[in-house]
Amino acid sequence: MRAEIAVLGAGVCGLTAAIALQDKGFRVTLLSAEEPERTTSAVAGATWFPYKVDPPDRVNHWAQVSRAVFEKLRTDPETGVLLRECHQLWRSPVAREPWWAEAVGTIGRLARTELPPGFVDSYVFEQPVIDMRRYLPYLRERFGAVQRIRVKSLAEASGHGEVLVNCSGLAAGRLAGDLGVYPIRGQVVRVRNPGIDRVLADFDNPEGEAYIIPQPDSCILGGTTDSAEWSLTERAAEADRIVARCAGLDPRVAEAERLEARLGLRPARAGGVRLESQRLANGRLCVHNYGHGGAGVTLSWGCAEEIAEILEQS
Ligand SMILES: Cc1cc2nc3c(=O)[nH]c(=O)nc-3n(C[C@H](O)[C@H](O)[C@H](O)COP(=O)(O)OP(=O)(O)OC[C@H]3O[C@@H](n4cnc5c(N)ncnc54)[C@H](O)[C@@H]3O)c2cc1C
Repeated sequence: MRAEIAVLGAGVCGLTAAIALQDKGFRVTLLSAEEPERTTSAVAGATWFPYKVDPPDRVNHWAQVSRAVFEKLRTDPETGVLLRECHQLWRSPVAREPWWAEAVGTIGRLARTELPPGFVDSYVFEQPVIDMRRYLPYLRERFGAVQRIRVKSLAEASGHGEVLVNCSGLAAGRLAGDLGVYPIRGQVVRVRNPGIDRVLADFDNPEGEAYIIPQPDSCILGGTTDSAEWSLTERAAEADRIVARCAGLDPRVAEAERLEARLGLRPARAGGVRLESQRLANGRLCVHNYGHGGAGVTLSWGCAEEIAEILEQS
């Protein structure tokens, strides 16, 4: 029998790590203060894309591993994973190869004549799109029971297994005493899908970023990225501005029925994702896995695989 692992956190990073470890034969207890559907992970758009996260070399590897898993999961409709064409549109010329090119594979370009007005360049690629309303329940079902508990410390959490895996998102700042952890507040709007079937993004819009993520029934329109902002109060004027910016990408969203506003705090970290092991003061081994910023879904399977490797070797 392999070691008993306590995974702290049932957002996308904790659930995925728990599944990967269980698949390798470890006995896993998954601890969470909240139901998966009430975590930051439930707010994610979600597309596979390395966004607001570091460091580039590790991120590329984790994203590549995850992408391969998402490409398999999309064959099962229960997962809520689709593959869509993505058009990232640029107002000024961009590098031939973005830093994340390695993780994507083939990146194309639209011909000048195909670009909408105001845009001079583009990246075109196949992008996994994940509907978190289906994906989190799928992960939870695949893993099994989540033990609801709010721990006060990593030492307390470590008492639930021989090894602790810390996937506590933004709370890791306090629990691990890591001053580098900070929120990037994000507000998005869900509207009824007026017939859009590709992801559209305008990341260098001077008014703020704009992106449309089409789920089968609705579209997520984004969004905001406010560093070190802790407020989870919805701002109505902000929602109007998001819809107006996205209408520049596809005018149909301006008239689409608004279904809900969603907001969350992306768990960012100066220096990027912390995935490393540490001996806690009580002698227990802890593998940290937090600080995924705007890419927790994107990196989830790659990070989970690396955690499993660390534990297999230790
Ligand atoms: C608007 C928005 C859009 C986004 N879009 C995307 C996207 O398109 N693609 C993408 O890859 N990412 C996206 N993200 C980022 C993504 O949501 C995060 O990176 C990801 O959710 C982080 O997952 P996590 O599991 O680390 O943290 P969380 O989802 O926050 O989960 C943390 C877990 O730790 C538990 N926990 C914390 N403290 C305690 C405690 N004391 N005791 C017990 N349990 C505790 C919580 O209950 C929870 O279960 C987006 C985020 C936002 C806000």
